[in-house]
Amino acid sequence: MELIRIPRIMKDTSIGHLLHGRSIGFVPTMGALHEGHLSLVRRSKGENDITVVSIFINPLQFGPKEDFNEYPRDTEGDMVKLKGADADILFMPDVSLIYPDKFLTYVEVQNLSEKLCGVIRPGHFSGVTTIVAKLLNIVKPTRAYFGQKDFQQAIIIKKMVKDLDMGLEVVVCPTIREHDGLAMSSRNSYLNGEERKAASVINRCLNQTTELIKSGIINHDQIKGFMEKKLSEEPLVTEIQYASVYDPDTLEELEIIDKEALLAVAVRVGKTRLIDNILITPVRHLRPLTG
Ligand code: AMP
Repeated sequence: MELIRIPRIMKDTSIGHLLHGRSIGFVPTMGALHEGHLSLVRRSKGENDITVVSIFINPLQFGPKEDFNEYPRDTEGDMVKLKGADADILFMPDVSLIYPDKFLTYVEVQNLSEKLCGVIRPGHFSGVTTIVAKLLNIVKPTRAYFGQKDFQQAIIIKKMVKDLDMGLEVVVCPTIREHDGLAMSSRNSYLNGEERKAASVINRCLNQTTELIKSGIINHDQIKGFMEKKLSEEPLVTEIQYASVYDPDTLEELEIIDKEALLAVAVRVGKTRLIDNILITPVRHLRPLTG
């Protein structure tokens, strides 16, 4: 695995591969890698000639009171995992090379960025789209891989790529989970033993809500009420930031679930903020035959 730290060298390396007709798959991450990240690397390996993984903890997407300084860092462990997954290039630039003095440009996808996590983390998604746009310009991938775990992020990036004619394919990959259903996340390492056990309530809530909808409850208020009740029954859930059912294209709350829907949750377990979601397609109920 090649380690590249300088954006100009990354760019030249990518151009070289593209000129030789090789496709490039790109997996942007913030490191502290787990099986979720590695599943994206494997998918990219299967679909491209060259796989580039970036590790960059992007200061622009953290609010002033958020966990930028505490965010888990494990460069050595990450490199072992990436070698094991047979990644071709690790791009790990320094903050000063990505955001030099007098950096003035931001990329913003309106509307979608202001919903769900955007309400609680103002400015977060413009930080995400700005860094992803920069990384895409440097790495020049044929395809870029994102996890459904961060569903809102994935559709915002899809929209940016489409709106700005960035000319690559955005591939959204399934959420990888722990044995009890908790979505893998670098932030799970913040949880103590009790909190870790309690955190499984999030996936249980999503699954039970799916069952509820399958049983014929398709009304927004009942579904939202059920989700909030399930989550608040767990004493270590200290805050419910959102828990509801949304249109997966617009992220507007759905009044009636009569089409594909996104169940999405953001809570704090202890002090740790966790998010998860599930996409559901309601089964159409056949009306009983009469007469
Ligand atoms: P992060 O390092 O948290 O910024 O995540 C980098 C990429 O990995 C993003 O596209 C995430 O959506 C994706 N990712 C994170 N956790 C998971 C997971 N449990 N399953 C699948 N993809 C994930």
